[in-house]
Order: sequence, then C-alpha cells, then structure tokens
Amino acid sequence: MNISRFPRRRYTLGYTPIEKLNRLSDIAGGGVNIYVKRDDMLGLTGGGNKTRVLEFLMADALEKGADTIITCGAVQSNHCRLTLAAAVKEGLKCHLVIEQRVPKSYDATANGNNFLFNLLGVEGTHVVDGGSDMLAEMEKVANLLKSQNRNPYIIPGGGSNAIGSLGYVACMQELLCQFTEMNLSMDYIVLTSGSGGTHTGMLCGAIGFNANIPIIGIGINRPKDVQRKSVFTLCDKTSDLLNLKNRPCYEDVIVFDDYIGKGYSYVTDGMLEAVKLTARTEGILLDPIYTGKCMAGLLDLIKKGYFPKGKNVLFLHTGGSASLYAYTNEFTGS
Ligand SMILES: *Cc1c(COP(=O)(O)O)cnc(C)c1O
Repeated sequence: MNISRFPRRRYTLGYTPIEKLNRLSDIAGGGVNIYVKRDDMLGLTGGGNKTRVLEFLMADALEKGADTIITCGAVQSNHCRLTLAAAVKEGLKCHLVIEQRVPKSYDATANGNNFLFNLLGVEGTHVVDGGSDMLAEMEKVANLLKSQNRNPYIIPGGGSNAIGSLGYVACMQELLCQFTEMNLSMDYIVLTSGSGGTHTGMLCGAIGFNANIPIIGIGINRPKDVQRKSVFTLCDKTSDLLNLKNRPCYEDVIVFDDYIGKGYSYVTDGMLEAVKLTARTEGILLDPIYTGKCMAGLLDLIKKGYFPKGKNVLFLHTGGSASLYAYTNEFTGS
C-alpha cells in the first residue's frame, strides 16, 4: 500500500505521542496496560481526529479549485470546528450546516465548539432539524453559492468517505513505525466509532499492513449491526481506492453499542465517571460525546475480563475536549 500517491496537506508537525497510562491502568485493574495515542494533540484549532482526515480532503478540494468548503455536523461538532480551521488556514471560506439531533439544541450563543465557529469566522451557519437529509441540505447551500459564481466543495459528515478515511490509514502506518521504534508490541486498539471514517481507516490499515491487531470500535450513536454494516461498506470503498489485496472482511469489524445510553450526545453515568477518572489520574481531558463514552467502554471491557492479563491496549484519543465547555452543568457537583 502506498499512501504517498494521494494528494495531502499537512496540518501536524511529526507524530502524535504514545503514552503509557500507569495510574489509569492500575485503577482499571485486570492487569492490562493502557496506552494512549494522543491524537487530541494533532494540529489545527484544538486538534482531534478530523485533522488527519482533512489533510486528504482539503488537498482534493484544492486540486478541484474550490474557494468554499461546505460541511455538516451536530451543534457541538468537532468536525465542523476543524473543517472551518482548515479552510481558514488554506484561505478558503466555509459554510456549516448544523443538525439539531436533539430537538431545539441549537443555541447561537452556546459555548464550546459553537463559540469557536464564530471566533474562527464561519461565513454561513445553516441550522436544520434532526433527521434531515444532510447531503441535500449541503447541496442547497452549494447551489446558492454556485449562483454567485463561487466554487464550493462538499465534505460529508465527519469527513467519512473513502478519501477522508485515508487519514487513518496513514495513522495506522504512523503507529506501526512508533511501535517498532518503541519496541512495543500492541495487542488491541480501541477507538470511537461514529461516522466511521476513523474506524474504517484504522481497520484498512491494520489489515492492509498485516498488523495483526484487532480494532475495537465503541459505538456512540447507532445499533451495533447498523454501525458494522456502515463501517464495512466504507472499508470496501476505501480498499478500492487503495487497490488493497488484503482487505477487511465483515468479521473484522468489531463494534460495541453498550455505552451509547439514550443516544448521540446524551450524557451517561459511565461517561461522566470516565471523563473524571481520566482527568484525575492522568491529567488528560476527554470529551462528553465520543471519547468519554469510548473510555467508559474500555474500562468496562477491562472490568469484564475481555482483555487477557498482561496485554497492551491502545486507546486512540480522537480529541473533542472543546465540547466539555458546553457541558459544564452536567459536571458540576461531582
Ligand atoms: C468525529 C469524532 C469521533 C468519531 O470519528 P468518526 O470518524 O466520525 O467515526 C471520535 N471522537 C471525536 C472527538 C470526534 O470528533
């Protein structure tokens, strides 16, 4: 596999660190060694996984001569924040289509990522109801811009298409270099599985590079079977783009849906506990919507003995802590 064949922008200097979380490993019990890949320290405003995805998507947008980026996300979308940041850096304009997945959840004055949309100078914010056809809504904005002689480029939710998924194929390659340099034999990788591009890229990388490391996705919005199918479909498209001989099969797509709670972005007790524990043992900030639920899943799987004693487990920290500041009420008093 040869990632360097694809056009790419660079938004991070060097590799993100891998750290061993000794205190958290002790408290989690089970004799498992927890490591973290600090993708919360990637480049662009505040870091997080979308920075890697955008390296390939923005390169494609620039090749196509785009002057404006359109993307979509929820009211506290990290993806929208980072896409806007990438557009700013490339000197392009950016429009956001915001989906109110929780009814009436959009507040123009809200803190967290919403505050940053305005600070970073978003050109247009278009708020639509939950369950809207987001691609159709983005196309409406694109048509409006085209009628003004602009050249818009649409990035799907989470940047999760075959091109975007290359970001995490590249991350898998980076990880394998680091494991070799560190003399570290990793047994499992645990990550958040949302719109699926991250899960897809890591899995295509793990299988494509023959890494022999299971990739375990913790779902945050959809039932297990729906998520598995969605990731598998994207794996196929990404494998085609990469011309992979070794490609993931359906059985390779591992998803747990036990940590979602009431639904996307709804608070769970496990998330609150995991965010507090990680902050208070390691000084690392997770987020309430993705990595907090993912860590809740990892800790529960350790407790249940899912990982044999002595194994090394890497938690992929995909970022998101900016949205903590929109959830301060949920954390007060605890
Ligand atoms: C988007 C996001 C994810 C999920 O990544 P997908 O590629 O959408 O599955 C995980 N963590 C954070 C902080 C995110 O913003």
